[in-house]
Order: sequence, then structure tokens, then C-alpha cells
Amino acid sequence: MTLVAILSGAGISTDSGIPDYRGPNGLWRRDPEAEKLVTYDHYMADPEIRRRSWRMRRDGPALRAKPNAAHRAVAELERAGVPVRVITQNVDGLHQLAGIPDRKVLELHGTARSVVCADCHARGPMEEALARVEAGEDDPPCLKCGGILKSATVMFGERLDPVVLGEALAISKASQIFIAVGTSLQVQPAAGLAGVAADNGARLVIVNAEPTPYDDRAAQIIREPIGTALPTLLRELAEG
Ligand code: ZN
Repeated sequence: MTLVAILSGAGISTDSGIPDYRGPNGLWRRDPEAEKLVTYDHYMADPEIRRRSWRMRRDGPALRAKPNAAHRAVAELERAGVPVRVITQNVDGLHQLAGIPDRKVLELHGTARSVVCADCHARGPMEEALARVEAGEDDPPCLKCGGILKSATVMFGERLDPVVLGEALAISKASQIFIAVGTSLQVQPAAGLAGVAADNGARLVIVNAEPTPYDDRAAQIIREPIGTALPTLLRELAEG
């Protein structure tokens, strides 16, 4: 069977009301004060930055967002029996909420739906940490060791998980069809996966409003809105 790899970026989630925070033109890059909130060294060193981060996590749109037609189309392709793996630059967990099994999704930048302790690496649900914030803890520490808790996302200044990255590379190499959707393909190493896939014989399809550095390697480029273009493309794939 044809293995379909889908690399998704911020553009797949904008219809769900989540802005592009970390792309080259994302909010984090345009606002240095906001960027500090997601920069590891600042976060670890400054309790005021952590308090602002917790307020932002509590009030931000990411945890309330719902999957949209594009996330659902990916889940439907998987349910149709096509071998699918999702590699995502997003931390919103919306692919899984749309119904695709967790084990088929690689989150390159981690997930905003969990917290992790910077000291003992214990993990827990973001919901529970936010309930503590709501109850009055403005910088809730790890319940196991008292260490600093952070979102389980990869902050600026942190490395991507080498295990996750290795799996993403293997999937990109093994895929016969590689669909890059809603990503500018400008942030490495995620962007390079499109090149790895093409080098290994995959048919590269790019679904993105703006040109990307990999357009000249693509077999097909789709500029139409993701919310309608991706469901159409994946239905055609499922029908073979
Ligand atoms: Zn801990």
C-alpha cells in the first residue's frame, strides 16, 4: 500500500482560529516581548515571564480550538484504510482531536496539551496545571519535585526531540506521497523533510497559499484554501 506522509504547519489550523505564532512572519518573531515567553532561557530565569506565560496559556485560543475540515479530511483518509502518517509543526493536538490515532502523529514541536517538568521531566495534562492557575497558583511548580513546569512544546533555545525527528525522517524516506500542507517550508529541519521525501522518490504535493522554497521539486502545487483543497485532494487519494 502507498504510504502517505502529511507534513502540516500553521496554515492547517488557522481555520480553527489559531494564529501562526512561530513561522518566519509569526507573532513570536514580530514581538520580541512575546518571543521571550517562549524562549527557554528567559522562561527558566524569570518568574514574571512564567506568570505571563501561564496567563497566556489560560486565556489563549489553542486549547479551546476545534478541528476543521482539513484535520477531519486527514482522519477520514486514515479511516478509509490508507496508511497515513502525520508529521506536524503544530502544537494544538487538532489532528488527534479529529480522530487520527496518537501513534500516527509526530509532533515535531511538542504539544500544548501537556506540561513537562524542566527538572524531573514528569509530564501531565495542561488542563490540570491550568486548573491550578485558575485556583490561584500563578506559577504552578512540578508536584513531584517542585521544579519549574512548562508547556510540553519545544521552546526557542530547545532542541527538537531526536527520536521524533528520526521517526519523521524515516517516514519521509518511506513515503510514496508526501503532502506538505499549510507550511511555508522555511523552518528547518521540518522543511528539509519535503526534500528528503522527494530525494527518495515520493510524489511531493504542496498545499500552501504562498510559494515555498520546495515548489520546484513538487509534482503538484495547490494554492486554493486548505479547508476545501485538502479534503478534495485526500478524497481523490482514498478513491485511488
Ligand atoms: Zn519535577
